[in-house]
Amino acid sequence: MVSAPLIAVEDITRSFRLGDQVLRALDGVSLTIHAGEMVAITGASGSGKSTLMNVLGCLDRPDAGRCIIAGEDTARLGPDDLARLRRRHFGFIFQRYHLMPGLTAQGNVEVPAIYDGLGTAARAERARSLLTRLGLGDRLSHYPNQMSGGQQQRVSIARALMNGGEVILADEPTGALDPESARVVMEFLHELNRAGHTIIIVTHDMRLAAQAGRVIEMQAGRIIADRKTGDQMPDQPATGRIALPARRGNPLTLLANAGHMALAALIARPLRAMLTMLGIVIGIAAVVAVTALGEGSRRQMSAQLDGLGTATLEIYPGTGWGDEKADQLRTLVAGDALALSAQPYVQSASPVVQTSARGRVGNQSLNVSISGVGPDFLDVRGRALVAGRMFDASDLAARAPVAVIDATTAERFFPGGSALGQSLMFDQFPAKVIGIVARSRDAGQSLELFMPHTAVTTRISGAGRLSAIVVRLRDGTDSAQAEGAITAVMLTRHGVKDFFVFNNDQLRRAAEASLGTLALLISAVAGIALVVGGIGVMNIMLVSVTERISEIGLRMAVGARRLDIMAQFLIEALVLCLVGAAAGIGLALGAGWILRDMAPLVFSPQAILTATIAASGIGLIFGFFPARNAARLDPIEALNRS
Ligand code: ADP
Ligand code: MG
Repeated sequence: MVSAPLIAVEDITRSFRLGDQVLRALDGVSLTIHAGEMVAITGASGSGKSTLMNVLGCLDRPDAGRCIIAGEDTARLGPDDLARLRRRHFGFIFQRYHLMPGLTAQGNVEVPAIYDGLGTAARAERARSLLTRLGLGDRLSHYPNQMSGGQQQRVSIARALMNGGEVILADEPTGALDPESARVVMEFLHELNRAGHTIIIVTHDMRLAAQAGRVIEMQAGRIIADRKTGDQMPDQPATGRIALPARRGNPLTLLANAGHMALAALIARPLRAMLTMLGIVIGIAAVVAVTALGEGSRRQMSAQLDGLGTATLEIYPGTGWGDEKADQLRTLVAGDALALSAQPYVQSASPVVQTSARGRVGNQSLNVSISGVGPDFLDVRGRALVAGRMFDASDLAARAPVAVIDATTAERFFPGGSALGQSLMFDQFPAKVIGIVARSRDAGQSLELFMPHTAVTTRISGAGRLSAIVVRLRDGTDSAQAEGAITAVMLTRHGVKDFFVFNNDQLRRAAEASLGTLALLISAVAGIALVVGGIGVMNIMLVSVTERISEIGLRMAVGARRLDIMAQFLIEALVLCLVGAAAGIGLALGAGWILRDMAPLVFSPQAILTATIAASGIGLIFGFFPARNAARLDPIEALNRS
């Protein structure tokens, strides 16, 4: 009683369309093959041998007819199920070996097990033992171009056995070999058959075919002869067969392998990888640098605004800037400043009377900007005394002609000596210097001098006319609310709105808004750079898929699923972009370090994280189409297109 055949095809046809012609490569072929057989398929070139072999090995599907392989009807199986059948049951040997040039002998042999989820150590161990069995124990780390044809073909036999190689399909395995190498390869195939492996071999060498137990002869897509020549017994127990490895499918192993293969592919072509990355490098560097520059400028501007006093409000006469009548208005009075300083949200307030006059010391005569202010003025403005004292309430009440000058003014009038206690002569009166304040950034060319506003209004500018009132709010006060409250207080006192309030927070907001607009603009440019970089990645990945099409075909033949191929190319694009991003971030940090004294760059971890995420996104988005193209390839077409 003979058990169910391993392979059974019934009346299969397979046609190829060439222009308007339809070519029948298989034309009604029926065939059964049992486990343990050694079958030779012969026939003239173009008779359909390879096409039949591909159908038997689940690399291809017939257009019509039934095809039962290892008990499964292939018509009902999807591409990934066919990949599983190939992976678990078949080992392929090709005339041109189809070894991957970038992998060592051992690396090539390991490939099928990668897709079967075998662990790294077990895989390496098994590959080494198979190669040793095939007499290549001393060639484990040789690359294909360092081996003879016969050795390469033995590597491919080891690869066919990696996942068990229950059925070995060899398409003209000795076609490219010298007679001695051919003899050795055939010897191994016979040995495997004796051990219980089913061998199907395509050859047009009748002498080689005759050595098989069964010879099938083809002509024009049909089987014209099928004869048993030897005394072999089909379905003999598979005693010595190479065992299937214990499998441990682990998605993480698959991912790690895909990553490993991707890295290997990139390292194999470093210049191309670098050029491809360049767009990403520049794009990410631009994004990171621009963000850092934006943040740096924001902080710098913020610090400058803080120098004005965190929350300072200024009240001016008139209806707004440039009001022509403002000079004639005498509405702001010292009482307003007093009333405001009594408000709970006000820390200090000071009237300001602004004027200028020529000051003289000895022969030196200079124009001085005179501010008549209250004793709290320095506190309001956040300015520090460097020597002496500020005038106090009694000086104010006495309209004392005392002055606090800034360091530059002191230096100009009293070069080399101390200004404290000295007198500055004005036309109308002398002013005695009692204190020196640090120079203000905003002073510009003017020489600053502060006096009690009572002294200024009586002696210089005329009574009661204030230029402004400056108010410092208590810490934590909302400046917009305070502005409203101050307006209300002033309205109650004046009855009409003959004043306006300037809130330097508005300045800050306006500055931040313009900074935001600038950042948006530069970010848009950086974003475009990133997209251009991404298109570069996509372009090179498409080229890469086209170039490595036979590698993809081989990976599919040894059982890679579409997802495996997709993951490999996606990860390759992802790695390109991430390495590019790392270089870009490094570039930006380096530029920031070099320009540290010139430009205020502040790098934030968020910006770097965002850039990394952006790069990953670009890798995945622009890698998707090339990866999908690769995954959708037909294994046979891919294998033949080399
Ligand atoms: P053999 O292996 O016996 O030399 P094949 O099975 O490779 O023959 O090819 C059988 C016929 O089918 C040949 O005429 C060949 O040109 C044609 N053929 C095979 N594969 C394709 C294909 N992918 N596209 C078009 N024609 C093909
Ligand atoms: Mg052929």
